[in-house]
Amino acid sequence: MPFDLASRLAERRAAHLYRRRPLLETPQQPEVTVDGEQLLAFCSNDYLGLASHPDVVRAMQQGAARWGVGGGASHLVMGHSTPHHQLEEALAEFTGRPRALLFSTGYMANLAAVTALVGQGDTVLEDRINHASLLDAGLLSGARFSRYLHNDVDSLAKRLDKAAGDTLVVTDGVFSMDGDLANLPALCATAKVKNAWVMVDDAHGFGPLGKTGGGIVEHFGLGIDDVPVLVGTLGKAFGTAGAFVAGSEELIETLIQFARPYIYTTSQPPAVACATLKSLELLRSESWRRDHLNSLIARFRQGASEIGLTLMDSPTPIQPILVGSSERALKLSAALRERGILVGAIRPPTVPTGSARLRVTFSASHSEAQVERLLDILAECWNQMAEEPEADA
Ligand code: PMP
Repeated sequence: MPFDLASRLAERRAAHLYRRRPLLETPQQPEVTVDGEQLLAFCSNDYLGLASHPDVVRAMQQGAARWGVGGGASHLVMGHSTPHHQLEEALAEFTGRPRALLFSTGYMANLAAVTALVGQGDTVLEDRINHASLLDAGLLSGARFSRYLHNDVDSLAKRLDKAAGDTLVVTDGVFSMDGDLANLPALCATAKVKNAWVMVDDAHGFGPLGKTGGGIVEHFGLGIDDVPVLVGTLGKAFGTAGAFVAGSEELIETLIQFARPYIYTTSQPPAVACATLKSLELLRSESWRRDHLNSLIARFRQGASEIGLTLMDSPTPIQPILVGSSERALKLSAALRERGILVGAIRPPTVPTGSARLRVTFSASHSEAQVERLLDILAECWNQMAEEPEADA
């Protein structure tokens, strides 16, 4: 039967892979109401606690009062307004690059950058656990597309040997489901030998990483020669929405001329750019947010290892707990929720089969007491689960 959607959905349900959207009835903050229940949440990407910051909210309100609520048109037609321009200049200065270009979402920034830079006859090499938007971009580009083993420089080098045309090496800065860092110094050095360009999507690194929140390139002290194409998203640590690509004058002009996901879409509301200008200022200057976040992460890792949980090699606010089967991940997530803790279960196809996990994330707006509460409840639920046999693999 064509379009047998009911069967497709039933299969997904039977495999414990059905996804549902929790309804958030309060702003982004640690204590939330979701589906009518009061919960303590550890699953937002609002890493620095800026999404509900009064100064950022005020900047958005003032921006809306002055500029209205819509972008109105694409950037190339009549949608490129003064706040967009000011934010691009501020992001260029922040990243230490000649220019930056704003996008409405990170997904589009990634599609735009890859498809504008490589096409038929070229090569795109990606870490195999890159974000879906980067993998989709590689496929859409029409370039020869190959995935190297996660963070594996030898595996990348082998593929570089066979590459043809302009070659783009693409990696997440912080891997979104594992929380680990790209091995950037080695990846960049390997790419350079073969005249390949490196593109880094640092959606999760800007804000938490680097002395001034400049992300993985600041963390490793890398420059534009190492990473000519740098992507950041604004919906995570910046607390607002949208994304940017930062790089050379020529790179940005190339995107403006050739990137279809840039050209054929409405600009983000200018008020969002006003809010982001304020959150950028806070992200850079309030280093206590990073310090507090890092101390919460260290405490969690210590406590979780005492409980016997399997964590990943992550120094970032993304601290997944590996569980194994989708069924067990759902069970642990449900047990936590019954006790007032909200953490999402991440299952295939987002992560490989057998590596379902709870993706715990921390924010500077969490308190130490809230992390202790998470650890206490995790210990209780984990010990209870350990006594039950695993049903599937
Ligand atoms: N890149 C990475 C690594 C991400 O985790 C995400 C969002 N989860 C994106 C890009 C997409 O960004 P946006 O949500 O702004 O579309």
